[in-house]
Amino acid sequence: MAATRVPEVAETPASEIDATMRRLHAGQVAWDDTPLTERAAVLLRAADRLEAELPAWCGLLVKEAHKTLGDCVAELREAVDFCRYYALQARDTLGPRELPGPTGESNTLHLHGRGVFVCISPWNFPLAIFAGQVVAALVAGNSVAAKPAEQTPAVAQRFVGLLHAAGVPQDALTLLHGPGETVGAALVAHPLTAGVCFTGSTPVAKHIQRALAAKDGAIVPLIAETGGLNAMVVDSSALPEQVADAVVQSAFRSAGQRCSALRLLCVHEGVADGVIAMIGGALQELAVGDPAEYATDVGPVIDAEAHAGITRQLERLDREATLLARRALPDGPAGAQHIAPCAYELARVADLRQEVFGPVLHVVRWGPGTAAHGGAADVEALVAQINALGYRLTLGVQTRIDSRAQRIAHAARVGNVYVNRNMIGAVVGVQPFGGEGLSGTGPKAGGPLYLYRFCAEQVVTVNT
Ligand code: NAP
Repeated sequence: MAATRVPEVAETPASEIDATMRRLHAGQVAWDDTPLTERAAVLLRAADRLEAELPAWCGLLVKEAHKTLGDCVAELREAVDFCRYYALQARDTLGPRELPGPTGESNTLHLHGRGVFVCISPWNFPLAIFAGQVVAALVAGNSVAAKPAEQTPAVAQRFVGLLHAAGVPQDALTLLHGPGETVGAALVAHPLTAGVCFTGSTPVAKHIQRALAAKDGAIVPLIAETGGLNAMVVDSSALPEQVADAVVQSAFRSAGQRCSALRLLCVHEGVADGVIAMIGGALQELAVGDPAEYATDVGPVIDAEAHAGITRQLERLDREATLLARRALPDGPAGAQHIAPCAYELARVADLRQEVFGPVLHVVRWGPGTAAHGGAADVEALVAQINALGYRLTLGVQTRIDSRAQRIAHAARVGNVYVNRNMIGAVVGVQPFGGEGLSGTGPKAGGPLYLYRFCAEQVVTVNT
């Protein structure tokens, strides 16, 4: 694949933010008045352009975000799906709706954009998450001030250019670059901000929530999608080969830099040794290396800062946990910014205290023999311990007992449950994605209720 140059992107000066917000505020009225069918058509054109440009997008995603080629294609697919799904949802569900009422009166529900939506996104899905936020806000009739992560400005810039070319007016969408602490915080604090859509870490979401609450004026809604301490429950009936495959996909794909990734494997004591051995073997088979190489399974982490942070967390695990397996890294530059995929055993579920955003798996055993040192004696106690972590994003279940899978899914307080498969790669419109608690506010991205949160509702009652 031809190398793609990552263009230099200038930080937005603080002095420009107010003028930009005023321009977007004025532009929102005309955009909201644009017929829904035309707003939807813009998204459909954008989806076609994205698909037609697949090789260039892959080149840019490899270069800027160090994505493997498999991840690039999946990410582009997801961005295309967001555009098409939200376009069709908007056309089908956001138009005026006649409501039942007494004779002599008409009642109509209208949905409008709220005003200027601030969209703040992370680097780990620099195209799909950025696109999903922005096109949802736009098709609902908002104008958008978009602030991508500092690590991935060029992907965002290219997508905004594509949207403008597809028909989004300049005054309905602007990209602002710069650190979250300054540019992001200024957008959140701006008096014309009518809503914030944020995807990123839980502490930053809470910071934004506090900043919004402290503002004078209107109450501003926040849509937040944040991190996870995601577990997989494996009982003694599970198929070990299936477990090992699902674990490797879920914990190590994308170098573990997915919010949905498996962090905590909870395996029944009766099968634990065999399953752990199989995972250790599968780890050694992973191709770790250059993301631009077709065969690579695990590329580097996003930057040196992330590498240093994960390395510090691994030093703590080396002191406090038992190393089960670690994949050797390639020598030389190819291994420079990689974290070796690895697995550590913890004594108890509660020992998992923070999200390690890298290819690091934690394992705990459960079953009657573990209860003496704080382990879960049965599956009900295990799910209670997982719920107590407070994150509510994804859960994997591996069992051949259908009724047990149903019981676990019912008791687990998570947004997405995956039974007998991997637990990543939610498909737009098929597995609407997102959680609650420390994992976010809902609604689920790529789901039938998502667009409503971007809308203001108005009912017009006419005495006829
Ligand atoms: P992050 O550090 O929270 O940053 C996310 C975005 O927020 C970036 O654009 C960042 O800007 C900005 N930001 C930082 N401080 C801010 C502030 N005070 N005010 C306004 N904006 C601010 O997260 P990340 O490291 O990019 O992404 C990894 C995290 O995202 C993980 O926790 C992962 O689980 C989570 N995530 C969740 C989902 C989901 O759907 N639930 C999906 C993907 C990722 P700068 O970084 O440019 O300074």
